[in-house]
Amino acid sequence: MAQLSDDCFAFGGPMMSVDEAVGLITARVNAIADIETVALVDADGRVLARDIAAPLPLPPFTNSAVDGYAVRDADLPQQEERALPLDGRIQAGGSAQAPIKPGHTARIFTGAPMPPEAGTVFMQEDVRIDDAGNIVLPAGLKRGANVRPAGEDIPEGHLALRAGQRLLPQHVALTAAFGLTRLDVIRRIRVAVFSTGDELASPGEPRAPSQLYDSNRFMLMAMLRRLGCEVSDLGILRDERASLADGLKQVAGSHDLILTTGGVSTGEEDHVKAAVESIGSLVLWRMAIKPGRPVAMGIIDGTPLIGLPGNPVASFVTFVHVVRPTVLALAGGLPEPLLPIPIRAAFSYGKKIGRREYVRATLRRGEDGALEAVKFPREGAGLLSSLVETDGLVELGEDIKRVEPGESVGFLSYADLL
Ligand code: AMP
Ligand code: MG
Repeated sequence: MAQLSDDCFAFGGPMMSVDEAVGLITARVNAIADIETVALVDADGRVLARDIAAPLPLPPFTNSAVDGYAVRDADLPQQEERALPLDGRIQAGGSAQAPIKPGHTARIFTGAPMPPEAGTVFMQEDVRIDDAGNIVLPAGLKRGANVRPAGEDIPEGHLALRAGQRLLPQHVALTAAFGLTRLDVIRRIRVAVFSTGDELASPGEPRAPSQLYDSNRFMLMAMLRRLGCEVSDLGILRDERASLADGLKQVAGSHDLILTTGGVSTGEEDHVKAAVESIGSLVLWRMAIKPGRPVAMGIIDGTPLIGLPGNPVASFVTFVHVVRPTVLALAGGLPEPLLPIPIRAAFSYGKKIGRREYVRATLRRGEDGALEAVKFPREGAGLLSSLVETDGLVELGEDIKRVEPGESVGFLSYADLL
């Protein structure tokens, strides 16, 4: 498990910026080093454990990029078109029977190996066939046209994928193109997830009139799975220090991260802080982020704990900014900073200087065709509809005080967050 010292996340300042928080976490968390081998079909989303250098060039041999006619360099028409008799036929997966004779052209198909004596291919759409059955090639085509030289994509030996790369389908495709069948990846990060709160009932269980169904736990587990984690669903802990402490203590040794939601505000019924302090150490980070309130960071038996706020939107936003980089750091992944895309605001909004705020927004096309962000009409941090009915978050940096319609703002699509 990730062994961390007790004061690992201690922080002296009153308010921490989001960048400071991410910097602290990624510097302190020890990456898991356990490696396992998976088949290519199971590699999507996993973190690569070792660099991969190209074991062969891509493409592996020089080939035709089009269906057409191959010619020798000496036979390339210069000023005027030329009619060349046909000599040979080279299919994809095949090879030429004999070299193309000087003054001749060979039929060739996309992906077929170029005969060494030919350097150029004419697209079939650009030629015509004369009455004698010769292929009439237009003048002016450059030497080497429509040919894909061996290694033009990736030369042999090139560092093609780096350890720490979280694999996407295109990365898996590259390893398949290299002929690999299995990949060494970091084992999945094990995360224990709890909700806390006497007002919560699990879906499927009876719900008292004063209770609501626990939605955060399912949101957080889904987000964790998208980040490649192995998730233990540990249900709901009651708002009571001793049972909270018991529940957390039980999972500390066997997981890489403990994630809780709720109970980290400073109300009398927010017991997570006291529970963690009774069995480990905990700091409340007052992050300068809205929605967000305090986020708890702690260590129990060397296992890091993150306590997210209970309001669903605050939980979502702090997951993105605190849990996501922690999970990536634990998994030994290369940093994947979130880069907001500039977009036009179609709303006005006032905010506090010194705090980063996230505005839930929907994308639409303005009258001029440009993309613009429309703010969700209500702001409560408890509104699940505000996450469901929008496309992403407009990020308003610490220095911004006001946004007016027409101004450029940064947009993070939900699709890019996980
Ligand atoms: P807390 O952070 O525990 O003070 O909770 C803040 C608000 O979020 C309260 O209205 C809770 O009912 C709500 N809440 C807390 N945990 C959850 C959860 N797991 N699912 C849905 N709502 C929650
Ligand atoms: Mg609570």
